[in-house]
Amino acid sequence: LYGDERRNSQGFNIEIEHEWSTFSDRIKPFMQTQWKAGPLINGQLITENVDIKSVLAPYDHSETVGSIGWANADLVNDALNTAAQAYPAWRDTPVNERATALEKLADLLEENYGEFMALCHREAGKTIQDSIDEVREAVDFCRYYAVQARKNMSAPVSFTRHDQRTVQMTRKGRGVFVCISPWNFPLAIFLGQVTAALAAGNTVIAKPAEQTGLIAFRAIELMLEAGIPAGAIQFMPGDGATVGAPLTSDSRVAGVAFTGSTDTARLINAALATRDAAPVPFIAETGGQNAMIIDSTSLPEQVVRDVVRSAFASAGQRCSALRVLFVQQDVADRIIPMIKGAMQERSVGLPEQHKTDIGPVIDREAQSGLLNHIARLKQEATLIAESPLPAYAEKGTFVAPTAFVIDSIDQLTEEQFGPILHVVRYKAKELDSVIDRINATGFGLTLGVHSRNETTAKHIAQRVKAGNIYINRDQVGAVVGVQPFGGQGLSGTGPKAGGPHYLNRFTVEHHTVLDT
Ligand code: GLU
Repeated sequence: LYGDERRNSQGFNIEIEHEWSTFSDRIKPFMQTQWKAGPLINGQLITENVDIKSVLAPYDHSETVGSIGWANADLVNDALNTAAQAYPAWRDTPVNERATALEKLADLLEENYGEFMALCHREAGKTIQDSIDEVREAVDFCRYYAVQARKNMSAPVSFTRHDQRTVQMTRKGRGVFVCISPWNFPLAIFLGQVTAALAAGNTVIAKPAEQTGLIAFRAIELMLEAGIPAGAIQFMPGDGATVGAPLTSDSRVAGVAFTGSTDTARLINAALATRDAAPVPFIAETGGQNAMIIDSTSLPEQVVRDVVRSAFASAGQRCSALRVLFVQQDVADRIIPMIKGAMQERSVGLPEQHKTDIGPVIDREAQSGLLNHIARLKQEATLIAESPLPAYAEKGTFVAPTAFVIDSIDQLTEEQFGPILHVVRYKAKELDSVIDRINATGFGLTLGVHSRNETTAKHIAQRVKAGNIYINRDQVGAVVGVQPFGGQGLSGTGPKAGGPHYLNRFTVEHHTVLDT
């Protein structure tokens, strides 16, 4: 891309120093801020009976970002009562008012872009580009679901029966929706779930990820400022056992939206199923064992650029990230050294620094799981490369981007949610068995294909079970409204986030026929 096309959603080209520094002035005032957060019930910040936790910067554990109070079981019960009481009034609020409040929220997020970027850097360890994208996606979700709600819920849809009578379909909210969101998109996915639920006319109890409650809390504060009634949104930070489990087993809950691990999704599904209550929608977006297949007709420079971005951008902490690269034998000896070369050039470092490509992983637990996997593969597989780490890396939770050649995808028993790439060589005649092995993982989130042979690319795209397929490009970064995101099988239930069917899942339909 050249010229104006390189300007991002905020109107500047990040590679031009003075354009970037003008924008970065908006972030600087928040680089020392200590945020405070806690449970919010009916707009009141609860400061008693909460367990106060310090939030540490992932890149430097001696830096505190703020503190947050975690809720206990009594507060969960209060939140459920408040949300249930507030439901009828919010359901009956005209859809245009609900949508307008969400658009106001989008405006407020844009006005506070600098603060949210600082939170992305300091609480979640996100790089500059990832932070820009994060806030942008959050804004897009607010506007998109506002538009969808107006479109689908403003007026009844009419059908004509065989006897010429008119049937009218209307939609309304379902009740109290629980939204449980992940730390890897602490603002975008958090708000994606919550705004869809609210736009559809549900009241919401939002449980943010344990690691990223501060940014979520600021978003809730803006929501209240935007005119969402205090009863419509309750904020319940805390751990899964204390907050998540009682919420998902409560009979007052009319639906759950969840993004996180497949194991947790199974637990929630079981908890919902064993309630003494009606079955309710469960919208889960979970993990993946995402593959990319490259054949001998692919363009090596392009492949390497897209592999490195897909595997290592966001420190590999995207559900969509590339985990297993299948390289056709004929080109493997050319492409693997190029990947190694490109990895030496990646700059791992502090999130807010302009030159940083890859930041830290989220916390110690994530880091030690990834390091154990790397240690195991150093025994069992062939190391291709490990990107260099900066001297200060031990202050925080950095993991060097690492790539290995392995024999088979079957060696990977679970998703490694970080900057680790596994490369498998295959022979042209083995393509169908590669496809079968990928499908046998049971996941079905993203798939990358690099081939200049249209028939091969189509064959792979049709046979691999994956929700989002990328041909001759990288495989991360779905776009709200035009490229809905989500998987199948172990990767989630659908409907896809940012797509035309998502909002409807938060509603009930009524069909009315009138006899005169
Ligand atoms: N929507 C993101 C992407 O396309 C991934 C979301 C996730 O990691 O959950 O890269």
